[in-house]
Amino acid sequence: MKTLVILGASGDLTGRLLLPGVARLIASGRAPGLSLVGAGSDDWSAGRWQERLDGSFADALAPGGASTKEGIAELKAVQAGSSYHQLDVTAKGALGTFLQGVQGPVALYFALPPAVSQKACEILAKKDLPPGTRLVMEKPFGSSAESARALNATLARLVPENHIHRVDHFLGKSTVLNVMGLRFANRLLEHSWNSEHVEKVEIVFDEPLTLENRARYYDHAGAGRDMIQSHLLQIMAIMAMEPPATLGEQDVRDNIASVLRAATIGPGAAGAATDLAAHTRRARYTEGTIGDRKVPNYLDEEGVDPANGTETLAEVEVHVNNWRWAGVPFILRSGKALGRARKEAVVTFKPVPHLPGGFKGTDSPTRLHIGFGPETLSLDLDVNGPGDLFSLDRVQLQAVLASDPLLPYGEVLDGVLSADPLLSVRGDTAEECWRIVETAFAAWKSGEVPMEEYPAGSTGPQGWTTSND
Ligand code: NDP
Repeated sequence: MKTLVILGASGDLTGRLLLPGVARLIASGRAPGLSLVGAGSDDWSAGRWQERLDGSFADALAPGGASTKEGIAELKAVQAGSSYHQLDVTAKGALGTFLQGVQGPVALYFALPPAVSQKACEILAKKDLPPGTRLVMEKPFGSSAESARALNATLARLVPENHIHRVDHFLGKSTVLNVMGLRFANRLLEHSWNSEHVEKVEIVFDEPLTLENRARYYDHAGAGRDMIQSHLLQIMAIMAMEPPATLGEQDVRDNIASVLRAATIGPGAAGAATDLAAHTRRARYTEGTIGDRKVPNYLDEEGVDPANGTETLAEVEVHVNNWRWAGVPFILRSGKALGRARKEAVVTFKPVPHLPGGFKGTDSPTRLHIGFGPETLSLDLDVNGPGDLFSLDRVQLQAVLASDPLLPYGEVLDGVLSADPLLSVRGDTAEECWRIVETAFAAWKSGEVPMEEYPAGSTGPQGWTTSND
């Protein structure tokens, strides 16, 4: 890829996540020959753009980490050659004319509010795009299965599907490859990776962070749309997928799509009526303390509208209705303002068919924990002793898994710039993720599923337990 064009270059995502990710990628020597162009509706001077790059590139320019001497020199050259352009992408013809002056092939990153990205794509024409252009779309991708379908149709007019990168920065290379390596390179594990041996799978992303001044976005999204509809369903699909023949994007993404097509909330075939109050839960934080920080009630946070009925903790029980997984609940949970950070998938295995009489103590289930950031692995097993060898005791075997030194957005951009859509969400998959959760969101909106409460800093509402509690 020759040029990375960032639309929305003056925005929060660009400054906080995207540019630092680009910088680390270039400084590690993995994006040779790249040019960087920023565009936004603000009238920024060249000096103001350079100031933004100074701030976002500072970490990567410091020696150490994954930066190499040549990479740092390259990053300095990219910064010196980078320009900013004022541009209203929703003005007819403006983006097209601008792109005709950019050296291709281009990676066009839409770091814009979703409605603005959609409008910009609707008025773009195929002829405006330099050959080989790749479109990079941020989340949320649509707001329902129907709107995601319409957006897919708009994009399909412009470039082929494998030139569209729907970003899910949770699908970092380390996360995806570590799960696949663990499952598909170990006969022992893959052999028992099915409903005969697995009791349940939990995928949890709990964070102590609160609203952090993001009401404009979060108070409309909530935990369900922000985390479960996108990131956690993708991770579930990688946990549940059939072994692909290769790690090529088509083999992997076909198998991910097949899992999501088979998924429903609660057990049962697609379209069957589900008791959503039995298979989904939602809650909102109230006043509390996290560490030494006092947290207000969510409803008192600046910019929050109680009428939106936004949840800050959500849990859904998804079933993958196929031969391998029939009857196994996949519990997806994510929330804010919780007492401790927890980012992991936990596979709980079924008990042994018969525990020989004479053993004392508890026969606890074998559990495998796969941690996402830091990337870790631990296996909980029952062993004998200590002291009384007839008594069962718990041990935990632990390992640290490899991770990529790039930041999550560096990993995303690595895929885009090296023209590999493996870690990008495919169009059909984006639609399926909305289809799976749409009925739950409708039930939450109508009040069919009660809104529970939990004090900020706690582990969640009473009675919500997971395998670690
Ligand atoms: P911001 O509101 O901070 O930035 C939006 C950017 O879009 C600004 O640079 C704005 O320019 C520009 N813009 C708006 N309208 C136009 C237009 N008509 N023509 C050209 N530029 C325009 O949003 P974020 O950076 O927070 O979010 C961007 C995208 O990234 C969203 O889709 C969001 O969901 C997604 N995202 C954001 C994350 C975050 O942490 N911020 C995390 C994950 C995803 P100006 O200021 O001049 O109007």
